[in-house]
Amino acid sequence: MSFKDLKLIKPLLRAIDASGYTEPTLVQQKAIPPILEQKDVIVSAQTGTGKTAAFALPILQHLFDKQDAPKRGKKIKALIISPTRELASQIQHNFKTYAQFSNLRSFAIFGGTSIEPQVDVLKKGIDILVATPGRLLDLHKQDYINLDHIETFVLDEADLMLAMGFIDDVKKIERLCPEQKQTLLFSATIPYKIELLASSILKNPERIDVTPTHSVAKDISQVLYYVPKRRKIELCLHLLRNEIKGNVLIFRRTKFGVNKLEQSLLKNGYKADSIHGDKNQSDRQTALNKFKNGYAKILIATDVAARGIDIDQLDNVFNFDIPNQAETYVHRIGRTGRAGNIGKAHSMCSADEKSYVKTIEQYINVQIPVETEHPYPLDPKAKPIVHKKKGSKYKKGRKGEGSKKKKKRWY
Ligand code: AMP
Repeated sequence: MSFKDLKLIKPLLRAIDASGYTEPTLVQQKAIPPILEQKDVIVSAQTGTGKTAAFALPILQHLFDKQDAPKRGKKIKALIISPTRELASQIQHNFKTYAQFSNLRSFAIFGGTSIEPQVDVLKKGIDILVATPGRLLDLHKQDYINLDHIETFVLDEADLMLAMGFIDDVKKIERLCPEQKQTLLFSATIPYKIELLASSILKNPERIDVTPTHSVAKDISQVLYYVPKRRKIELCLHLLRNEIKGNVLIFRRTKFGVNKLEQSLLKNGYKADSIHGDKNQSDRQTALNKFKNGYAKILIATDVAARGIDIDQLDNVFNFDIPNQAETYVHRIGRTGRAGNIGKAHSMCSADEKSYVKTIEQYINVQIPVETEHPYPLDPKAKPIVHKKKGSKYKKGRKGEGSKKKKKRWY
């Protein structure tokens, strides 16, 4: 199937061509036709599947014939709600790319940055607004945003919205829009509460399911290291030094953990950056850009900050902590191994996290290969060995440190 078969108009086809896309992804093939027919849809798809274009292209097509001249007062006709600032900015960037041969103007608003420049753009008028819930409600309360003309309402990453406690805000925003509108709900998973939300705000939605959420891409090789909790930092340094080639996105469960690890890596001479909810937006964006552009090889993140972020050419994902939700594991490691590249997912598991691994393995229906030959095994019986290698920073280590030949155990 080609983009032409999807009956997209010429200015969009030109923009798609300029983006280098040759054919629509599965979610685009399935979602674009019903969205063009103005149907409500509920789409289960993860980041990396091309889901942003799946809603952005038909929205732009719908608005194309109605677009105002560039300088006339524009009214907001499409509203996209995103749980995180980075995702909002990424979605708006996509809209801008696809709308490059039109007069349609998009803009993203989110917290953590000053409100005045956002108000200035809103006053000039835009067609498409991408927003995080808090900043949207704030600006609406101050009368800078009028939602009376919304024709399409999109909820992106709805399950994360739920996890972050935004559902009441989302319902509030939905009620501020006209009743007669098209609603599109995108979510990596569709838990019961999202079903409930969907049934309250969508009308006869078409269901589209492109990715069974428990599947792990074939192009990702997974490896698990059992290690005592207190030695995780040492193993992490060892792996960064000896095993991990290319760039790496390291996940930690908490903001505190992210900061602590960043300090340790900096102290050990690594250029590491981090993103999490307590950092201001400009620092988050700078860190992300540096990582995406290849200036920094290590980015440490919490799940919430990194969710939905699309990073081309990510070589490694590193789970410093094992996530306590199997779905989170799939989301994390799905960042790598994209677009035909081979990716590697490394995970460190301490004794208290063993049950999480069991749940993950049941969920993905795969037993994660375990690397036993490393210097900090969980098994206390493993004998420490002394290194003779000249210049090695590791004078002492456990069995396996420095050994070239590594055995992999497949459970
Ligand atoms: P998304 O799932 O929307 O975050 O998109 C993931 C990545 O796929 C982005 O970098 C898009 O630019 C890219 N993309 C979207 N649609 C296509 C397509 N049809 N062909 C190739 N790449 C695409």
